[in-house]
Amino acid sequence: MGKKRLHAIMIGFCYQGHVIPFTNLAIKLASSGCVVTFVHPEFVHHMLAKADGVNVAEADPFIRARQSGLDIRYTTISDGFPPDFDRIINYKQHWEAIFLDFPSRVDELIGNIINSDDEAFEHFLVADTSYSLPATIAHKYNMLNVSFWTQPALVFILYYHLDLLRERGYFPVQGDEENVVIDVIPGIEAIKIKTKDLTSNFHDWDETSITRRIMVEAFEKVKQADFILINTVDELEHEWVSAMNQKQPTYAIGPVNFSKLDVPKSLWSKTDCAEWLDSKPRGSVLYVSFGSLAQSNQQLAEEIANGILLSGVHFVWVIRDGADMLPDGFANESKERGVIVSWCNQNEVLSNPVIGGFLTHCGWNSILESICCGVPMICYPFFADQPTNRKLVVDDWKVGINLCDGTSVDRKEVAEKIKELIGSETSNSLRGEMKRMSSVVHKALDEDGSTHTNFHRFLEDLWAKAATGATHTHG
Ligand code: UDP
Repeated sequence: MGKKRLHAIMIGFCYQGHVIPFTNLAIKLASSGCVVTFVHPEFVHHMLAKADGVNVAEADPFIRARQSGLDIRYTTISDGFPPDFDRIINYKQHWEAIFLDFPSRVDELIGNIINSDDEAFEHFLVADTSYSLPATIAHKYNMLNVSFWTQPALVFILYYHLDLLRERGYFPVQGDEENVVIDVIPGIEAIKIKTKDLTSNFHDWDETSITRRIMVEAFEKVKQADFILINTVDELEHEWVSAMNQKQPTYAIGPVNFSKLDVPKSLWSKTDCAEWLDSKPRGSVLYVSFGSLAQSNQQLAEEIANGILLSGVHFVWVIRDGADMLPDGFANESKERGVIVSWCNQNEVLSNPVIGGFLTHCGWNSILESICCGVPMICYPFFADQPTNRKLVVDDWKVGINLCDGTSVDRKEVAEKIKELIGSETSNSLRGEMKRMSSVVHKALDEDGSTHTNFHRFLEDLWAKAATGATHTHG
C-alpha cells in the first residue's frame, strides 16, 4: 500500500496581520505535496472581498494557487457575528464568543471535512498559537497539532515563560521598573531585553481582562502542540529558537511571505502608485504605514504629516481609514511630493529601489518584508508585540532608528529622523547593516538555506510522528 497523503486543516485567524502569513503557509504546504483545507473566519473572507473589490463569491484567496496545480480547498466558518460587526470596538464580546461557541463550530467543521474526504489522509491541524482551541480538537480527531506563531520567536519565548516572569515580579511593569533586565529566560540572556521592551500586555496586565485570558490560555495550550512553526528566520533569532527547541519541536520557517515559490506575491495586487514611484530617484521615497489597524490618533497624524512636509522627502503613505485626521490642506500641499493610498501591495512598494526608508509601527510582517527588501526603518511601535520588535530592529540589529527619543512625537523631530534616514551619513551605516541582514535572510530562503531545510525537517518529523500514531506527547 502506498504512503497516505498529508492533509493540513488550517484555521485562519481573525486579524489582518495573520492573513498573509497563514495563506502563504498554506501555499507552502501545498507546494510540498500536502492537500490543504483552509478555513477562514467568514468576516475575514468578507474583508478580503472588500479589499480586493470583488464580490464575496470570488474572494477565495487561492484561486491562482489552484490554477497552478495546488490542491488547496477553501471554506469559511462563522464566529457567530455578522460580517460587519466591529470586532475591534467589541473586542471583549468577540473574544468571549471565541472562547465559548467557536470551538464547537470548529469541531463540527473538522469532523465534516474528515468525514467527507475521498481518500485516507493523514490529517493534521494548523492553527494560530493565539487560539487555545486546537489541543482539544486535535486530540479528539487524533490529529497532529501544529501551532503557527506569526510574531518573532523572542515574543513567543517571553509568553511561554509567563509564569516565571510573573513569579519573579517582572510584570505588571511599574513606571520606575522600566529598565529592569530580564535574565531568567534561557536563550535570551545576551540581548539584555528590558521590561520596557516587553509586549504591551505585560504593561497593562489586568487579571480580569480578556487579553490576559487569551494569552494565558494560548500559552498553556501550546505546550500540548506537537510542533511549533514560527514565521522567523533562524539566523535572526537563533539562540531563543534553539532554547524553545529544547522544550518542544520548534522550526523557524520564515519569512513565509517571501517564499521562492511561484505564487502570488500578495493577496492584493493593486498598487495604484506604481507609476508615480517609477518616476522618482533611487532611494528618495519614504514609505509610511502603520499596519492593518487604523490608528485613530489625530495629534500623531498631524505631527507626522507636518514632519513629512518639513523633511521635504517624497512619500507614499498608507492610510486605511482616518485620512480625515490629516491637517487641512496637507493633501494639496504635498501632492507634488507624495501619494496617499488606502491600501497597496506593500511587498511590491518596498521592493521598488526608489524606496529609501519605511516609517513603520513595527508589525512583524512589515519588519520581515522591509528586511527582505533591504529598506531601513524608522520605528514607532504602538502596542502588542511592536515594542519588542522595535528593540530587535533598533537596538540589536541596528537596521532602524526610533521616531522619537522622548515620550511625545514632535514634527521637528519627525523631520530630522526622516532626513537622518534618507540620505545622511547615519543612513549609510544603517543601509550597510540592512544589506548584510537582507542577504542573510535571502540565503536562508535558498534551496539549502535554513528556512527551506527547517520546513522540510518539519515535514519529515511530522511524518515520523504520524507513523508512530502518537499525538500530544508534550505538556
Ligand atoms: N499590508 C499591505 N498593504 C498595505 C498595508 C499592509 O499589503 O497597504 C500588509 C503588509 O505587507 C503586511 C501586513 O499587511 O504583510 C501587515 O502586517 P504587520 O504584521 O506588519 O502589521 P499588523 O497589521 O499585523 O499590525
